[in-house]
Amino acid sequence: MKNTKVKVTNLKKNFGSNHVLKGIDFEVAQNEVVVLIGPSGSGKSTLLRCLNRLEDPTSGSVVIDGNDISDSKTNIDQARENIGMVFQHFNLFNNLTVGQNVELAPVELGKLSKSEAVTMAKKLLDTVGLDDKYDAMPQSLSGGQKQRVAIARALAMNPDIMLFDEPTSALDPEMVGDVLEVMKDLAKKGMTMVVVTHEMGFAKEVADRVVFMADGKVMEEGKPEEVFGNPQNERTKTFLQKVI
Ligand code: ADP
Ligand code: MG
Repeated sequence: MKNTKVKVTNLKKNFGSNHVLKGIDFEVAQNEVVVLIGPSGSGKSTLLRCLNRLEDPTSGSVVIDGNDISDSKTNIDQARENIGMVFQHFNLFNNLTVGQNVELAPVELGKLSKSEAVTMAKKLLDTVGLDDKYDAMPQSLSGGQKQRVAIARALAMNPDIMLFDEPTSALDPEMVGDVLEVMKDLAKKGMTMVVVTHEMGFAKEVADRVVFMADGKVMEEGKPEEVFGNPQNERTKTFLQKVI
């Protein structure tokens, strides 16, 4: 039986009179990779941000590992420790070395001793292909390398779900492949992932399920071969014609 990791029910989010999410039902199973696609402004980032309560839902529920994250009794800081997030803009601490960027959160939060954190950071940097950059400063890295550090930093908290919001959209084209490769490896290792991306090749190859959003609603979802090969919804068809 599949193990539900994330369950979003009738989620609505308004910004003033702007109804951005209009009743989203969305599930992610343990070890599943879900790729979220849709036109700009359809609410993809808002949905991701509601998953770790960077945005407060207007109504509806978000349950992760059985905890309702909008319930005031839920410890949101603790819930967030298990949810890694990677953004379009990597926001590394430029005054810290690459290694220190990766070590910071688990040491600050008392999860690891400094020496354990060093071992962990070196191992994670090796995983993302940057084992030689431990002592480097972020400014000396390319955009693709910075994004791989940001992924290592998110993994440092040992999360059991990773959210990616257009992680390759700000990168030069020649940098995109290495970042997608790291994400592909994570998926292979069984990480539960929700990925907002316009990289349809990645979606076809890596996604267990593709969810198409438009106008704050889930319009269509299914296996990549279904959604890409035989889209049912007119909005999906129009969108795919533009991006593929
Ligand atoms: P997507 O990621 O699919 O491009 P977003 O979730 O970023 O879409 O945005 C959906 C809508 O919500 C847009 O109209 C955007 O202007 C609005 N929106 C997003 N965040 C905020 C915010 N913090 N305050 C006001 N409006 C917002
Ligand atoms: Mg967005």
